[in-house]
Amino acid sequence: MNLLYKRRKTDQPPGEDEVEHYRRAWHSYVIRRNLVVALFLGFVAVGAASAKVKWREAVDFAVLLGWIGVYLAGAWWLTEWKCPRCGRVFGHRLWTERCISCDLGKDEIAKVAQGK
Ligand SMILES: [Zn+2]
Repeated sequence: MNLLYKRRKTDQPPGEDEVEHYRRAWHSYVIRRNLVVALFLGFVAVGAASAKVKWREAVDFAVLLGWIGVYLAGAWWLTEWKCPRCGRVFGHRLWTERCISCDLGKDEIAKVAQGK
């Protein structure tokens, strides 16, 4: 799609087809964010469990490494989330509140997605 055309529209409220786009993007974001939160909580749970269960150290270490790998993959997937307005990566950090390219806020996307 034409970037100039898209950029000119950034100050206007999203049109009807864009609302659908925002909604899908927001849904995708929520899934990714929940996954990262779940992985983090799972990590804590596994850590607590491994402190109780007397695994051999090598097993402990392997589980830990595996989980870190999965967590990093999930976190990477979250940072790969694309901004619904400008189509670029929203932010390189995990919990960025605004798009680094067009300054669109997550709360604004949520509002559009929820139809408010
Ligand atoms: Zn953007």
